[in-house]
Amino acid sequence: MNDFLKRTLELKDEMIAVRRELHRHPELGFDLEFTKPFVKKKLEDMGYSVKESGKAGLTCMAGDPAKGKVILVRADMDALPLNEESGLPFASENPGQGHCCGHDMHTTMLLAAAKVLKEREDELCGAVKFMFQPAEETGAGARDMIASGILADPKPDAVMAMHVNAKSPAFRLNYGKGCTFASNNSIDIHIKGKGCHGARPHEGIDPLKVAVHTYIALQSYISSEVNPMETVIMSITSIEGGGGYNSIPGEAHMKGTLRAYKEELRLKAIDRIKDICESCGKLFGAEVTVEFSEGLKPVFCSPSFTDEILGYAAEVIGKENISDEPEVKMGSEDFAEVTNEYPDTSAYLFIGAGPDKDTAYEVGQHNSKVVFNEDILPYGAAVSANCAFEYLKNNK
Ligand SMILES: [Zn+2]
Ligand SMILES: [Zn+2]
Repeated sequence: MNDFLKRTLELKDEMIAVRRELHRHPELGFDLEFTKPFVKKKLEDMGYSVKESGKAGLTCMAGDPAKGKVILVRADMDALPLNEESGLPFASENPGQGHCCGHDMHTTMLLAAAKVLKEREDELCGAVKFMFQPAEETGAGARDMIASGILADPKPDAVMAMHVNAKSPAFRLNYGKGCTFASNNSIDIHIKGKGCHGARPHEGIDPLKVAVHTYIALQSYISSEVNPMETVIMSITSIEGGGGYNSIPGEAHMKGTLRAYKEELRLKAIDRIKDICESCGKLFGAEVTVEFSEGLKPVFCSPSFTDEILGYAAEVIGKENISDEPEVKMGSEDFAEVTNEYPDTSAYLFIGAGPDKDTAYEVGQHNSKVVFNEDILPYGAAVSANCAFEYLKNNK
């Protein structure tokens, strides 16, 4: 048995207690008043000197960057604005806030990984940098920690993260390879026309007409300009304007969402959507402004680095428990802000947390009834620890 796994299995009861304590006190976004000091104290008790990073993040390091490379391992700590309905005895005590994405599991696993790596700090051929981040669900946490220098002093050479998956059998390890999570930008299109009587349309500028032409032009862009072998999704999800029978409104507002798996395609789509909307406005004399939310980049995992990491993960979890096919998610993940800086050395793992090794739960993350199998905690922790340890040893 792998040494890290042997040790984390000894820590299992402790891990479950930590997980349940976090689970009882879920918090949102950057407001981690319970979680942050709780995690900080655990790390300090292990002998770490912990630094605050950004609005509510924490970081610390095991090993010595002068001895080799630096690998960053990340866990998110925030919960979702959901009323937990799991029925668990340690369910959320905070109404309207629930650990329904399993970030309490992530925090617990990274804490245990930090503990076992600290115990073997002298053997590390470099350093492991821990990133405990807030606000993954709002997409702002990683960006905030990057702005406050998490990717500098020392600069990591490689980065990895792990997510639990209730809809996958326990101990099954999956991974991203290449395109893993889509980007995500909200789109707001403001159309300023000129209101007038419905019987005298020639006296105004109809923003609804502009909205309809814009809608069609945008759909044509996706269907005929985007390479069908690549994925770019743009959906217009709201068109609002007017309300009466005999007056043409002065303004209309469209909303939508843009998703892509490659950063260059995302940037190109943003340019083209702007261009198309503004051109449609010009065509009919309306003033059109387009706004994109800051959004999230896509997560792209380096295939060769992922293969290397999976080799180390297999030492813990067994090759037979690693999926043959990589995972591609339609959703987004704010670790994208980190992986975007590491096209050749980023990995993202998923660990199954179903009821047993052959079964998945029917309900998954972001559902108020989701539950996760705690038996996987020592395995996830040992996978992270072993991957970090072995990466440093094999890349001196
Ligand atoms: Zn989530
Ligand atoms: Zn999550």
